[in-house]
Amino acid sequence: MDLSRRSFSLSVLAIAACRSVGAEAADGPPPKPGFALDPDPATVTPVHHTEAEWKAVLDSEAYHVLREQGTERAFTGRYWDNHAKGRYGCAGCALTLFRSDDKFESGTGWPSFTQPIKADRVAVASDTTLGMVRDEVACARCGGHLGHVFDDGPAPTGKRYCMDSVSLIFVAG
Ligand SMILES: [Zn+2]
Repeated sequence: MDLSRRSFSLSVLAIAACRSVGAEAADGPPPKPGFALDPDPATVTPVHHTEAEWKAVLDSEAYHVLREQGTERAFTGRYWDNHAKGRYGCAGCALTLFRSDDKFESGTGWPSFTQPIKADRVAVASDTTLGMVRDEVACARCGGHLGHVFDDGPAPTGKRYCMDSVSLIFVAG
């Protein structure tokens, strides 16, 4: 990390910290990028981190999508054309979310799945931004925004979980 980026990160952290003092209770800092995916937890327990803590560990694009409900541009992410066998975890908290066996070619430019690895790994809520009614998909543990789910997917579920690559971490195997 070069010095200019470091000082920028620290100033962002300081500003964010000022805003959130006393406003949020946290479970300690989130894991640093590069962590291993969680093996299968029996239950998913929600965690909470302050926005300052998220900004300290996520790069700006990941922060924008995961924490500000952003969307990466189609065909620009790291996984839309990934055909390797493995699992995809949350880039915020490492919870395992999807597997390559459920990934399909949607032609949208975003990694698309017919289902999560277990139903309790994701939380779905109505999203009415941008003049559309869509079902937003978030990580059930850290609340990070992952993408949206639509009813035009292939068998066996008929669902299309349309995810942002930046919200996911792929581990081969
Ligand atoms: Zn998460």
